[in-house]
Amino acid sequence: AQEEGFEADEIEGELAAATSGPLPVLAVVGRPNVGKSTLVNRILGRREAVVEDRPGVTRDRVTYEAEWAGRRFKVVDTGGWEQDVLGIQASVAAQAEFAIETADAVVLVVDATVGVTDTDSAVVKLLRKAGKPVVLCANKVDGPNMEADAAYLWSLGVGEPHPVSALHGRGTGDMLDAVLEALPEAPAQTFGDIVGGPRRIALIGRPNVGKSSLLNKVANEDRVVVDATAGTTRDPVDELVELADKTWRFVDTAGIRRKVHLQGGADYYASLRTAAALEKAEAAVVLIDVTEPISVQDTRIITMAVEAGRALVIAYNKWDTLDEERRYYLEREIEQELVRVRWAPRVNISARTGRHLEKLVPAMETALESWESRVPTGRLNGFLGELVASHPHPVRGGKQPRILFGTQAGTRPPRFVLFASGFLEASYRRFVERRLREEFGFEGTPIQLSVRVRE
Ligand code: GDP
Ligand code: GDP
Repeated sequence: AQEEGFEADEIEGELAAATSGPLPVLAVVGRPNVGKSTLVNRILGRREAVVEDRPGVTRDRVTYEAEWAGRRFKVVDTGGWEQDVLGIQASVAAQAEFAIETADAVVLVVDATVGVTDTDSAVVKLLRKAGKPVVLCANKVDGPNMEADAAYLWSLGVGEPHPVSALHGRGTGDMLDAVLEALPEAPAQTFGDIVGGPRRIALIGRPNVGKSSLLNKVANEDRVVVDATAGTTRDPVDELVELADKTWRFVDTAGIRRKVHLQGGADYYASLRTAAALEKAEAAVVLIDVTEPISVQDTRIITMAVEAGRALVIAYNKWDTLDEERRYYLEREIEQELVRVRWAPRVNISARTGRHLEKLVPAMETALESWESRVPTGRLNGFLGELVASHPHPVRGGKQPRILFGTQAGTRPPRFVLFASGFLEASYRRFVERRLREEFGFEGTPIQLSVRVRE
């Protein structure tokens, strides 16, 4: 059917793009300053996924959607994560570990004008041990006379070096062809494989909020089995835990149990871990330590979970320590800092005493149910029709953009595509999202809204 101004195949195309399965993941790793970020920008071109206008969203984002030769994949940019505190060697090792755990293929970027360094060799060793396909990018080959520099990089032992100038775009097409060859059609770890299997939960939160205490508390009593097969690293990566007669897979518990004592670098390492765990999980349980003021680090972690599109539960831990005064301030902090995620179920727990741990399961179930819910197109358009009639978009420059039609293009989390006759202002889109939540619930799940405007 043709909606005002939209060709049927245009709508079809949009839906196909929005509803296709999970995408394979490409990680870009390498030493600082070799040109990773430049390369990622080059790969994304202007095809970067719709930029959301929620505050703080883009800043913390590490995964982008890209397309080359008609194939879509995700690109993980590790460039923004480097921090001097960790030292180059450790920082690159952490990137590699992240890539090994989450990516389907890796682009290793080396600065051809510098040649092979010890750090490059070390990361190659890690990558090869994990058996991930590696595409070697010999960057900063800005002209043909520099291609000899690139040839030296055969010595790394990961195959053909692809001479590239990320800055000018030279050679990136050939390199991307090689990337597509290395990337599987579908990601190795997809939600698809695990339908009907245990739910995957990422237990996340800044250091010392009580993640390992909570894990011990729930696992000690009812631990079923430690699953040693899932990981590529030496520790068991996930743990299966029985809660309320159901098995749950807590992902990346190795990362929780293995305490890292890197001077000053712990936060950085923790944020890599968080991103890796989220990548594998369906739902996130974010722990907040009520003994301390809610911090930027807490809100960053919540933003990462929302950005990753995971179901979300917020657990306020160490409730056993709470006195009247702290409680008063805590509630105010929640109101100020966490209004954005008012939709997330909240549990007040104590990993130490076991208080209210039984509330965790219903909260996770509610969030996951919303995460997978679907609004039939008819109902959605009935709702949108009423909304547009009762709360039209403000007139701008003599024009009044109108939502013409909408559909839920996907689930996990719910994704909506609205077709409109003009640009919808951010405030109006937020209003639509709010009203969608009021109407259809979505407790515990982020919802994604994209708008297609008739040109
Ligand atoms: P990252 O730290 O690995 O993400 O590196 P950046 O992408 O931030 O790049 C580091 C520096 O190298 C910047 O000054 C870039 O402009 C420069 N650079 C990146 N790619 C190229 C390239 O292909 N040729 C040249 N000449 N410089 C480049
Ligand atoms: P992680 O770094 O997030 O894994 O945090 P841990 O589980 O190691 O906990 C950090 C500290 O907080 C430890 O000293 C725990 O004993 C303490 N802790 C964890 N949960 C609770 C709780 O519910 N109540 C109290 N009072 N202390 C807790």
